[in-house]
Amino acid sequence: MPLPKICGLIGYPVKHSLSPAMHNAAFGSLGINAEYKLFEIKPDELDGFFHALLMQNLFGLNVTIPYKEKVIPFLKHISAEAKLIGAVNTIKISGNKAEGFNTDGEGFLRHLEESGFNPKGKIISIIGAGGAAKAVSVYLSKAKPMAITIYDTDMPKAAYLIGYLEANFKNIKFKQADFVSGLNVGFVDLLINATPIGMTDRDSCLVGENLMHKDLFVYDLIYNPAETKLLKAAKNAGAKTANGLGMLLYQGAAAFEIWTGKKAPVEVMRKALKEAEEKCSQK
Ligand code: NAP
Repeated sequence: MPLPKICGLIGYPVKHSLSPAMHNAAFGSLGINAEYKLFEIKPDELDGFFHALLMQNLFGLNVTIPYKEKVIPFLKHISAEAKLIGAVNTIKISGNKAEGFNTDGEGFLRHLEESGFNPKGKIISIIGAGGAAKAVSVYLSKAKPMAITIYDTDMPKAAYLIGYLEANFKNIKFKQADFVSGLNVGFVDLLINATPIGMTDRDSCLVGENLMHKDLFVYDLIYNPAETKLLKAAKNAGAKTANGLGMLLYQGAAAFEIWTGKKAPVEVMRKALKEAEEKCSQK
């Protein structure tokens, strides 16, 4: 049997990623001789990694923090979506060509809609204005909500994202909030956490339970822990909730299809992801 072809995740750090479980299960179920590996690349190693790329038998990569924007100069072609979002989370390598894509927004929207939320005409608030918030807000804007408000402790970053969305999407009201209270959670339909706040026990709850209501949908992009303090507060207030595991699944399924040209075995990937997540949360 020939050596497996390699794909994988580059980032720093990456060792807790659930992506190998999901993709290796998918390759196994379709009989594809390939292996998904983790490449923990230090910032000063990125250049060398890309220069050696074509010698590494690689056919695809996922990209995570802190390289989603930094990989762009190494790529020959960027998809229209990745250009609009300004970040790449998936790279397809064929011959001497490396092409960049972004499947985060698509993965988020697919999971949100599957969870029963249609953004059209809705009022939305997002906490965070980083890479994930950009992908999520661009995809939400395509789905024609009525209004999107964004809050980030880095205020110039939020202002930049608002300006960017205003320039690309007409007929949606975009607003920046200077404080969490400016998100007007009491009046919104969908609240999204696109910050890493909630990943550790030490993190505070971003929005108080008293501000939430039963007609609210709260989506936390974090999937580990499965229930952040924000999601717990939302549940206590009677709101509907979702964590980011479904987004991870669907961004992965879209990446798999870009690499292989085959329909992703979503149920196999979902099962592998769930098992890996349960193992991880028992540690
Ligand atoms: P990022 O680029 O670092 O952006 C996070 C943003 O949140 C930064 O602008 C940060 O500001 C801001 N922030 C930090 N604390 C805040 C607070 N208390 N209130 C308001 N804003 C705050 O990170 P990212 O790549 O967008 O990722 C964000 C989260 O999404 C991470 O937890 C990541 O794991 C998750 N994610 C999940 C998926 C999935 O498939 N489920 C996919 C992508 C990302 P500073 O820069 O000033 O700290």
